[in-house]
Amino acid sequence: MNEIGKLFIVPTPIGNLADITHRALSVLSEVNLIAAEDTRHSQKLMQHYAISTRLISLHDHNESQRAKQLIEKLKLGENVALISDAGTPLISDPGYGLVNQCRETGIEVVPLPGPCAAITALSGAGLATDRFRFEGFLPVKAVAREQALESLKAESATSVFYESPRRVLATVKLISKVLGENRPVVLAKELTKTFETFYTGSAEACVAWLEEDTNHQRGEFVLMIAGEKRDQTQVSPEALKLLTLLMKELPLKKAAAITAEQFSLKKNHLYQLGLEL
Ligand code: SAM
Repeated sequence: MNEIGKLFIVPTPIGNLADITHRALSVLSEVNLIAAEDTRHSQKLMQHYAISTRLISLHDHNESQRAKQLIEKLKLGENVALISDAGTPLISDPGYGLVNQCRETGIEVVPLPGPCAAITALSGAGLATDRFRFEGFLPVKAVAREQALESLKAESATSVFYESPRRVLATVKLISKVLGENRPVVLAKELTKTFETFYTGSAEACVAWLEEDTNHQRGEFVLMIAGEKRDQTQVSPEALKLLTLLMKELPLKKAAAITAEQFSLKKNHLYQLGLEL
């Protein structure tokens, strides 16, 4: 055991205990040590799968000191698995400092694929998934929260957030205020659990749904906001100016393509406009 050890990043279930891979179970059984966000919480999963590997804590408040200790162990040849309370470690969960230091020290980091609430929600929401923006938790302070949402006004990709049951109603109200009451929103609640629910509607309808029954506000939430739909036939004065300038130097096809790329517009529409100009 003198070779340098490996750090395994192991996703765990987000509700349904059956959602764990064969590989995750063998890694957790075979490593020398499991670093867990909350050892008591993870003990239940270990008991369920009869895994007796030693657990030590690694959370937001001890990560830098713990990372040093773990790196020493890894250097001595011990293999370590990192888990969080649920889902994929480092995704709105601790572990960044440890992984970063392992990479810098030349310790191999082996991430395993597995459950993640954001990806599970997105795959079942019925919103566009070709581009999405993961925002984690919104800031807690009111001004910063509003600013974060303001920055999404022109976002054309789907936005994905984590939210606590305590704040979900206030957040959806704020989405309605900042992004408009008609913006399509999907609330994915209690994923993989008995009362898994997807509620889809305008921001305003989501507020009403959360308010109509306080039980609707209970549980764990992933919140998704549809991207802003751009009318690709609305050409701004800036886009028109660029097209006109480029047309003087380049073939129309090229000028239209560059302008389209720059302003997220349709090439063909700009080409037609160029002909008319
Ligand atoms: N690392 C985790 C992952 O990969 O999804 C996320 C950890 S973050 C601290 C916890 C947040 O994830 C919760 O507040 C909630 O927003 C979301 N979440 C976790 N499990 C969920 C579930 N079963 N259903 C809906 N949201 C969930």
